[in-house]
Amino acid sequence: NMAAARLISRLALITGGGSGIGRAVCHRFASEGASVVVADISEESANETLRSLQSDLRGQSHMAAKVDVSSKESITQLVTSIQTHYFQPPSVCVNAAGITQDDFLLNMTEEQFDRVVQVNLKGSFLVTQAVAQALVACGAPKGSIVTVGSIVGKVGNIGQANYAASKAGVEGLTRTAAKELSRFEIRCNCVLPGFISTPMTDKVPEKVITKMKSLVPMGRMGEPAEVADVCAFLASDDSRYITGCSIEVTGGLFIG
Ligand code: NAP
Repeated sequence: NMAAARLISRLALITGGGSGIGRAVCHRFASEGASVVVADISEESANETLRSLQSDLRGQSHMAAKVDVSSKESITQLVTSIQTHYFQPPSVCVNAAGITQDDFLLNMTEEQFDRVVQVNLKGSFLVTQAVAQALVACGAPKGSIVTVGSIVGKVGNIGQANYAASKAGVEGLTRTAAKELSRFEIRCNCVLPGFISTPMTDKVPEKVITKMKSLVPMGRMGEPAEVADVCAFLASDDSRYITGCSIEVTGGLFIG
Protein backbone atom coordinates (compact mmCIF):
# COMPACT_ATOMS: atom_id res chain seq x y z
CA ASN A 1 0.00 0.00 0.00
CA MET A 2 2.03 2.90 -1.38
CA ALA A 3 0.96 6.10 0.39
CA ALA A 4 0.88 9.42 -1.38
CA ALA A 5 3.43 11.99 -0.24
CA ARG A 6 1.16 15.01 0.02
CA LEU A 7 2.46 16.31 3.35
CA ILE A 8 6.18 16.59 2.73
CA SER A 9 7.68 19.55 4.63
CA ARG A 10 4.44 20.13 6.60
CA LEU A 11 4.52 20.36 10.36
CA ALA A 12 1.39 18.75 11.84
CA LEU A 13 0.05 18.91 15.39
CA ILE A 14 -2.27 16.06 16.38
CA THR A 15 -4.04 16.18 19.73
CA GLY A 16 -5.21 12.87 21.14
CA GLY A 17 -2.31 11.39 19.17
CA GLY A 18 -1.67 8.75 21.81
CA SER A 19 -4.63 6.55 20.94
CA GLY A 20 -7.27 5.46 18.46
CA ILE A 21 -8.09 7.88 15.65
CA GLY A 22 -5.42 10.43 16.67
CA ARG A 23 -2.71 7.77 16.59
CA ALA A 24 -3.88 6.57 13.15
CA VAL A 25 -3.72 10.19 11.93
CA CYS A 26 -0.11 10.44 13.18
CA HIS A 27 0.78 7.27 11.26
CA ARG A 28 -0.91 8.38 8.05
CA PHE A 29 0.57 11.90 8.17
CA ALA A 30 4.08 10.56 8.84
CA SER A 31 3.72 8.13 5.95
CA GLU A 32 2.83 11.10 3.73
CA GLY A 33 5.99 12.94 4.76
CA ALA A 34 4.80 15.30 7.50
CA SER A 35 6.74 16.05 10.64
CA VAL A 36 4.34 15.10 13.40
CA VAL A 37 3.85 16.54 16.88
CA VAL A 38 2.06 13.82 18.85
CA ALA A 39 0.22 15.56 21.70
CA ASP A 40 -1.78 13.73 24.34
CA ILE A 41 -2.75 14.03 27.98
CA SER A 42 -0.91 10.75 28.46
CA GLU A 43 2.77 11.40 27.82
CA GLU A 44 3.45 7.68 27.80
CA SER A 45 0.98 6.91 25.02
CA ALA A 46 2.18 9.94 23.03
CA ASN A 47 5.72 8.55 23.25
CA GLU A 48 4.51 5.13 22.21
CA THR A 49 2.96 6.64 19.07
CA LEU A 50 6.16 8.64 18.44
CA ARG A 51 8.30 5.50 18.53
CA SER A 52 6.12 3.84 15.89
CA LEU A 53 6.25 6.66 13.32
CA GLN A 54 7.92 6.38 9.95
CA SER A 55 10.61 9.08 9.59
CA ASP A 56 12.60 8.30 6.45
CA LEU A 57 11.08 10.96 4.19
CA ARG A 58 12.66 14.31 3.39
CA GLY A 59 13.32 16.52 6.44
CA GLN A 60 11.07 14.55 8.77
CA SER A 61 11.44 14.98 12.51
CA HIS A 62 8.72 14.11 15.00
CA MET A 63 8.18 14.96 18.65
CA ALA A 64 5.82 13.95 21.45
CA ALA A 65 4.33 16.31 24.02
CA LYS A 66 2.01 16.17 26.98
CA VAL A 67 -0.97 18.52 26.73
CA ASP A 68 -4.33 18.99 28.38
CA VAL A 69 -6.42 20.60 25.63
CA SER A 70 -8.92 21.93 28.17
CA SER A 71 -6.21 24.17 29.67
CA LYS A 72 -5.20 27.35 27.87
CA GLU A 73 -1.94 27.45 29.80
CA SER A 74 -1.07 23.91 28.71
CA ILE A 75 -1.76 24.75 25.03
CA THR A 76 0.27 27.96 25.18
CA GLN A 77 3.18 25.93 26.54
CA LEU A 78 2.75 23.34 23.79
CA VAL A 79 2.75 25.89 20.96
CA THR A 80 5.78 27.62 22.49
CA SER A 81 7.72 24.37 22.71
CA ILE A 82 6.81 23.49 19.10
CA GLN A 83 8.08 26.88 17.90
CA THR A 84 11.26 26.47 19.95
CA HIS A 85 11.84 23.03 18.48
CA TYR A 86 10.97 23.70 14.81
CA PHE A 87 11.30 27.52 14.54
CA GLN A 88 7.79 27.61 13.02
CA PRO A 89 4.19 26.95 14.07
CA PRO A 90 2.30 23.87 12.82
CA SER A 91 0.50 24.55 9.52
CA VAL A 92 -1.62 21.44 9.92
CA CYS A 93 -3.60 20.64 13.05
CA VAL A 94 -5.97 17.79 13.87
CA ASN A 95 -8.13 18.09 16.97
CA ALA A 96 -8.65 14.43 17.85
CA ALA A 97 -8.49 14.60 21.66
CA GLY A 98 -11.89 13.72 23.06
CA ILE A 99 -13.68 11.96 25.87
CA THR A 100 -17.06 10.50 26.74
CA GLN A 101 -18.79 10.44 30.13
CA ASP A 102 -22.12 8.85 29.32
CA ASP A 103 -25.29 8.96 31.36
CA PHE A 104 -28.97 9.45 30.70
CA LEU A 105 -30.01 13.10 30.65
CA LEU A 106 -32.17 12.56 33.75
CA ASN A 107 -29.10 11.42 35.71
CA MET A 108 -26.26 13.40 34.17
CA THR A 109 -24.35 15.55 36.62
CA GLU A 110 -23.20 19.07 35.96
CA GLU A 111 -19.60 17.81 36.31
CA GLN A 112 -20.10 15.18 33.58
CA PHE A 113 -21.54 17.80 31.27
CA ASP A 114 -18.85 20.37 31.99
CA ARG A 115 -15.89 18.01 31.63
CA VAL A 116 -16.95 16.64 28.25
CA VAL A 117 -17.66 20.14 26.92
CA GLN A 118 -14.34 21.40 28.32
CA VAL A 119 -12.26 18.75 26.57
CA ASN A 120 -14.19 18.26 23.31
CA LEU A 121 -15.53 21.74 22.58
CA LYS A 122 -13.43 24.22 24.55
CA GLY A 123 -10.31 22.15 23.82
CA SER A 124 -10.96 22.35 20.07
CA PHE A 125 -11.53 26.11 20.40
CA LEU A 126 -8.33 26.69 22.38
CA VAL A 127 -6.14 24.62 20.07
CA THR A 128 -7.66 26.09 16.89
CA GLN A 129 -7.23 29.60 18.26
CA ALA A 130 -3.63 29.05 19.40
CA VAL A 131 -2.56 27.49 16.09
CA ALA A 132 -4.31 30.19 14.04
CA GLN A 133 -2.79 32.96 16.17
CA ALA A 134 0.70 31.49 15.77
CA LEU A 135 0.24 31.12 11.99
CA VAL A 136 -1.06 34.67 11.55
CA ALA A 137 1.73 36.05 13.75
CA CYS A 138 4.41 34.35 11.66
CA GLY A 139 3.29 36.41 8.67
CA ALA A 140 3.02 33.63 6.10
CA PRO A 141 -0.05 31.76 7.35
CA LYS A 142 -1.72 29.12 5.08
CA GLY A 143 -2.83 26.05 6.93
CA SER A 144 -5.44 23.37 7.46
CA ILE A 145 -7.20 22.65 10.73
CA VAL A 146 -9.26 19.47 11.00
CA THR A 147 -11.54 18.83 13.97
CA VAL A 148 -12.92 15.40 14.76
CA GLY A 149 -16.61 15.82 15.44
CA SER A 150 -19.10 12.94 15.43
CA ILE A 151 -22.21 11.89 13.57
CA VAL A 152 -23.78 11.92 17.06
CA GLY A 153 -23.54 15.75 16.99
CA LYS A 154 -26.07 15.70 14.15
CA VAL A 155 -28.45 12.92 15.16
CA GLY A 156 -28.06 12.69 18.96
CA ASN A 157 -27.47 9.49 20.90
CA ILE A 158 -29.07 8.03 23.99
CA GLY A 159 -26.81 8.57 27.00
CA GLN A 160 -24.69 11.24 25.33
CA ALA A 161 -26.36 14.63 25.84
CA ASN A 162 -23.00 16.13 26.87
CA TYR A 163 -21.03 14.48 24.06
CA ALA A 164 -23.60 15.23 21.34
CA ALA A 165 -23.74 18.88 22.43
CA SER A 166 -19.94 19.14 22.35
CA LYS A 167 -19.76 17.57 18.89
CA ALA A 168 -22.54 19.77 17.46
CA GLY A 169 -20.57 22.65 18.98
CA VAL A 170 -17.34 21.88 17.15
CA GLU A 171 -19.15 22.06 13.81
CA GLY A 172 -20.39 25.59 14.57
CA LEU A 173 -16.94 26.52 15.81
CA THR A 174 -15.34 25.13 12.65
CA ARG A 175 -17.74 26.90 10.26
CA THR A 176 -17.09 30.20 12.02
CA ALA A 177 -13.33 29.68 12.08
CA ALA A 178 -13.50 28.85 8.36
CA LYS A 179 -15.23 32.15 7.61
CA GLU A 180 -12.85 34.21 9.74
CA LEU A 181 -9.60 32.51 8.74
CA SER A 182 -10.13 32.16 4.98
CA ARG A 183 -8.39 35.48 4.38
CA PHE A 184 -5.27 33.98 5.95
CA GLU A 185 -5.56 30.90 3.73
CA ILE A 186 -6.29 28.76 6.75
CA ARG A 187 -8.97 26.17 6.00
CA CYS A 188 -11.06 24.58 8.77
CA ASN A 189 -13.11 21.42 8.39
CA CYS A 190 -14.61 18.57 10.41
CA VAL A 191 -14.66 14.84 9.98
CA LEU A 192 -17.67 13.12 11.52
CA PRO A 193 -16.88 9.50 12.33
CA GLY A 194 -19.67 7.06 12.95
CA PHE A 195 -18.83 3.93 14.86
CA ILE A 196 -15.07 3.35 14.87
CA SER A 197 -13.21 0.56 16.63
CA THR A 198 -10.95 2.31 19.25
CA PRO A 199 -10.33 2.23 23.01
CA MET A 200 -13.24 4.69 23.28
CA THR A 201 -15.72 2.23 21.77
CA ASP A 202 -14.13 -0.73 23.62
CA LYS A 203 -16.08 0.62 26.61
CA VAL A 204 -19.41 0.07 24.81
CA PRO A 205 -21.24 -3.15 25.84
CA GLU A 206 -21.21 -6.01 23.28
CA LYS A 207 -25.01 -5.89 23.05
CA VAL A 208 -24.94 -2.25 21.96
CA ILE A 209 -22.10 -2.93 19.48
CA THR A 210 -24.14 -5.66 17.78
CA LYS A 211 -27.17 -3.34 17.60
CA MET A 212 -25.10 -0.48 16.14
CA LYS A 213 -23.44 -2.71 13.54
CA SER A 214 -26.86 -3.82 12.33
CA LEU A 215 -27.72 -0.15 11.68
CA VAL A 216 -24.62 0.47 9.52
CA PRO A 217 -25.43 -0.08 5.82
CA MET A 218 -21.85 -1.25 5.26
CA GLY A 219 -22.39 -3.80 8.04
CA ARG A 220 -19.26 -3.22 10.10
CA MET A 221 -17.50 -0.75 12.36
CA GLY A 222 -14.93 1.58 10.85
CA GLU A 223 -11.18 1.44 11.44
CA PRO A 224 -9.20 4.43 12.77
CA ALA A 225 -7.15 4.38 9.53
CA GLU A 226 -10.32 5.00 7.53
CA VAL A 227 -10.89 8.24 9.43
CA ALA A 228 -7.19 9.14 9.20
CA ASP A 229 -7.29 8.84 5.40
CA VAL A 230 -9.99 11.53 5.25
CA CYS A 231 -8.00 13.73 7.66
CA ALA A 232 -5.00 13.42 5.31
CA PHE A 233 -7.17 14.53 2.39
CA LEU A 234 -8.42 17.55 4.37
CA ALA A 235 -4.89 18.39 5.53
CA SER A 236 -3.47 18.21 2.01
CA ASP A 237 -3.81 20.46 -1.03
CA ASP A 238 -6.12 17.89 -2.58
CA SER A 239 -8.85 19.67 -0.59
CA ARG A 240 -7.59 23.21 -1.30
CA TYR A 241 -11.06 24.60 -2.20
CA ILE A 242 -12.86 22.93 0.75
CA THR A 243 -13.45 24.90 3.95
CA GLY A 244 -16.18 25.01 6.60
CA CYS A 245 -17.32 21.55 5.63
CA SER A 246 -18.01 18.31 7.52
CA ILE A 247 -17.28 14.92 5.98
CA GLU A 248 -19.12 11.92 7.39
CA VAL A 249 -17.06 8.73 7.75
CA THR A 250 -19.77 6.36 8.86
CA GLY A 251 -20.19 3.47 6.44
CA GLY A 252 -23.59 5.01 5.71
CA LEU A 253 -24.87 5.14 9.30
CA PHE A 254 -27.74 7.66 9.56
CA ILE A 255 -27.86 8.53 5.86
CA GLY A 256 -30.62 11.18 5.73
P1 NAP B 1 -9.42 7.40 22.27
O1 NAP B 1 -8.81 6.16 21.73
O2 NAP B 1 -9.88 7.44 23.67
O3 NAP B 1 -8.39 8.60 21.98
C1 NAP B 1 -8.57 9.87 22.53
C2 NAP B 1 -7.25 10.35 23.04
O4 NAP B 1 -7.39 11.70 23.57
C3 NAP B 1 -6.73 9.50 24.21
O5 NAP B 1 -5.35 9.24 24.05
C4 NAP B 1 -6.99 10.40 25.39
O6 NAP B 1 -6.13 10.16 26.48
C5 NAP B 1 -6.74 11.76 24.81
N1 NAP B 1 -7.28 12.82 25.67
C6 NAP B 1 -8.35 12.77 26.50
N2 NAP B 1 -8.50 13.93 27.15
C7 NAP B 1 -7.51 14.75 26.71
C8 NAP B 1 -7.14 16.08 27.03
N3 NAP B 1 -7.83 16.82 27.93
N4 NAP B 1 -6.07 16.62 26.40
C9 NAP B 1 -5.36 15.89 25.50
N5 NAP B 1 -5.66 14.63 25.17
C10 NAP B 1 -6.73 14.06 25.77
O7 NAP B 1 -10.71 7.78 21.40
P2 NAP B 1 -10.95 7.79 19.82
O8 NAP B 1 -12.10 6.92 19.56
O9 NAP B 1 -9.72 7.64 19.06
O10 NAP B 1 -11.48 9.29 19.66
C11 NAP B 1 -10.76 10.30 18.98
C12 NAP B 1 -11.75 11.39 18.59
O11 NAP B 1 -12.72 10.82 17.70
C13 NAP B 1 -12.54 11.95 19.75
O12 NAP B 1 -12.75 13.34 19.56
C14 NAP B 1 -13.86 11.22 19.66
O13 NAP B 1 -14.90 11.95 20.24
C15 NAP B 1 -14.02 11.11 18.16
N6 NAP B 1 -14.95 10.09 17.71
C16 NAP B 1 -14.74 8.77 17.95
C17 NAP B 1 -15.66 7.83 17.49
C18 NAP B 1 -15.50 6.35 17.70
O14 NAP B 1 -16.40 5.61 17.34
N7 NAP B 1 -14.39 5.90 18.26
C19 NAP B 1 -16.81 8.27 16.80
C20 NAP B 1 -16.98 9.61 16.58
C21 NAP B 1 -16.05 10.51 17.04
P3 NAP B 1 -6.65 9.15 27.66
O15 NAP B 1 -6.92 7.84 26.99
O16 NAP B 1 -5.50 9.14 28.62
O17 NAP B 1 -7.91 9.79 28.19
